[in-house]
Amino acid sequence: MLSCASRGSELTYVPVSELRTDPISGRKVLIVEGRAGRPSDFLVPSSTPARQAAAEDNCPFCVGAERQTPSPSLEVFDKVGNWQVRVIPNKYPAVAAHLTIPESSGVQSPFSPPEQAYGAHEVIIESARHVQDVTEISVEQLATVLQVYRDRLKHWSTDPQIRYVQIFKNVGFAAGATLEHIHSQVVAFPFIPAALENEMRGASEYYQRHQRCLVCDLLAQELDQRTRLVFEEGQFAAFCAYAGRQPYETWILPTKHQSDYRELSNDDAFSLAKVLNQVLRKLHVVLPELSYNLLLRTVPFGEEESAPYHWHLEIVPRTTHLAGFEWGTGLFINPLSPERAAKMLLEAAV
Ligand SMILES: [Zn+2]
Ligand SMILES: [Zn+2]
Ligand SMILES: [Zn+2]
Repeated sequence: MLSCASRGSELTYVPVSELRTDPISGRKVLIVEGRAGRPSDFLVPSSTPARQAAAEDNCPFCVGAERQTPSPSLEVFDKVGNWQVRVIPNKYPAVAAHLTIPESSGVQSPFSPPEQAYGAHEVIIESARHVQDVTEISVEQLATVLQVYRDRLKHWSTDPQIRYVQIFKNVGFAAGATLEHIHSQVVAFPFIPAALENEMRGASEYYQRHQRCLVCDLLAQELDQRTRLVFEEGQFAAFCAYAGRQPYETWILPTKHQSDYRELSNDDAFSLAKVLNQVLRKLHVVLPELSYNLLLRTVPFGEEESAPYHWHLEIVPRTTHLAGFEWGTGLFINPLSPERAAKMLLEAAV
């Protein structure tokens, strides 16, 4: 691809592209800066005001609409007895204990027979108010949500069939959100998904060679170089991923080694909420119509002793569409270098 540099009055195009490998997952990314630099170059519309008004009128997650949702598996109340956070089973689960293979399918595959889609799929409603993003709730409220993440992990770890729980957020149309009311999803699987297996493999190969945690070492280097550092607070640091898949991909990690998110203390949840809030405020400055996915990566159940995993949050703004290039190869093209992205986030006034 082409980069545009001005030399006198004449424009010359300098072809640049850089292949980077994510040190943890082994995922490959091409950093291809075109005429990058202007944040508005990376916009995908999230939602229109008209859509938003319609969505708010018949929102099943708003206070007062509780009867439209399945009964909660967990509720957190404030001092006067109003709910703050509700966890409900997903009405249309992808995996669940009660789902069976349709008899009508009658599929017989000797190579890879269909299995029951065992698991659980829940929604965490993060506010009684109709707001869309983390920056619209208080840091205290966000800390409560982050504690609920921990408590759902604890809950599902008591099911001997469950190996991994993926907690994630889709915010904005471009990130795949179907309901705009602030929420996260919890999906419990009886196996370890490939994305996690790749990270576990990277961490354990490094450990075998160096007897140290890969992510602790990465973090030490990031904190020393500071070229991708975005924010630091208490026991947490945020930096742009060296091989980010999309412009402004940012990770938040505990600076002291912790493999299991279930060990997060309530105080830690509060510091983590502060960092998450700041990072998202900054992202909203550089990408006014921000859509993003937030992913929590933590050690799978039963693997606590076997691998020196280091839990983290990945925030992936959705600014470009995934097309044939990505689907075909699993390779991502990021048109903004993580170093330039970090500088813009660091300088973004919130
Ligand atoms: Zn709502
Ligand atoms: Zn570590
Ligand atoms: Zn990761």
